[in-house]
Amino acid sequence: MEVASLYSEQFMDHVAHPDYKYELEDATHVHDGVNPSCGDELRLAIRLNDSGRIEEASYTGHGCAVSMASADMMSDLMVGKTPQEALALCDLFKGMITGSEKDEARLAQLDEAALLKDVSHMPARVKCAELAWRTLAEMLKDEGDSGATTTE
Ligand code: ZN
Repeated sequence: MEVASLYSEQFMDHVAHPDYKYELEDATHVHDGVNPSCGDELRLAIRLNDSGRIEEASYTGHGCAVSMASADMMSDLMVGKTPQEALALCDLFKGMITGSEKDEARLAQLDEAALLKDVSHMPARVKCAELAWRTLAEMLKDEGDSGATTTE
């Protein structure tokens, strides 16, 4: 267990002072995610702009420190990305958190979320860390299947 390195000052700052935990009033997409094994629940919202990029991302909900910090880091990372880029980052995060992706250069694309790499050594926390990314991937895949459906 590398708890000491996971719960770093930088990590705890996302928990105590989240930047993206608020309701996005003019969201174009909203999607709920639940992790029953821990009780984490979050509602993720994004606004896609006319050029098809994520202009803003935010979340509301409650859960453990890992799930909330992960959602905050992810929201920050997704600003300016296209849905395709966002899905690729979700896959990369999943690879990191399940221990299958260890390439430091690739993981650097995750920016601060790479801090959560140590969660791969904490099986009980993997679903917590994954929740926001899994929720975003579900939201964006729905978008691909159904065209320009708006979810409120
Ligand atoms: Zn949790």
